[in-house]
Amino acid sequence: MIKDNILKIKSTLPPQTRLIAVSKTKPVEMIQEAYDAGQRLFGENKALEMRDKHEVLPKDIEWHFIGHLQTNKVKYIAPFVSLIHSIDSLQLLQTVEKEAVKHDRIINCLLQFHIATEETKFGLNLQEAQAILNSDEYKAMQHIRICGVMGMATNTDNTTLVRNEFASLRAIFETLKKNYFIDSDNFLDISMGMSHDYQIAIQEGATLVRVGSFIFGARNYGVPVNDV
Ligand SMILES: *Cc1c(COP(=O)(O)O)cnc(C)c1O
Repeated sequence: MIKDNILKIKSTLPPQTRLIAVSKTKPVEMIQEAYDAGQRLFGENKALEMRDKHEVLPKDIEWHFIGHLQTNKVKYIAPFVSLIHSIDSLQLLQTVEKEAVKHDRIINCLLQFHIATEETKFGLNLQEAQAILNSDEYKAMQHIRICGVMGMATNTDNTTLVRNEFASLRAIFETLKKNYFIDSDNFLDISMGMSHDYQIAIQEGATLVRVGSFIFGARNYGVPVNDV
């Protein structure tokens, strides 16, 4: 049951780690069930799906965007998104800034890093992130709050590899904190860990874990849906 799954995971989390229930592809009824069990943070990876769910579900939900975000989709989530985990270019950050201005709000963002051995995963390396943070464009932004870093480990049973990848994200976090955010109260978050590896992520310092199938069951993608 969704409620039992949430309570079980939450009972294992240290106080500094928050649970994001990843509800992508799952119906609003299941999200409501998790909400009724006290869950307030939900993660989605498609902009229109997240917008549609936001419209019909309770307004005190914190919506976390965790997937690859195309610049032309930012407008759908800009009015309400709580944290965008997947900033992987200056261009995307500029688009988020522009949309945040329109809604007169500050949008919280994480820089996504490529820490896995797989080629396919999105994300920056340290040099690319530093180039963004050093840029005049970034320095001029008034509606972006960089709150930390996000990453995905390699999908493998090799727990040593996974642990090393999470440790590398933690090291990136510490480097950026020291060099760019030493006086900031907002640069706090390390988003890492999914259903199969969130316990390792916690041991390596995750403040946000993103758990989907352990809560809602396996996803059945069935007929492919166009990216919305
Ligand atoms: C789907 C997804 C998750 C959750 O994956 P599970 O294995 O179902 O826990 C976490 N993070 C990201 C970025 C995802 O796309």
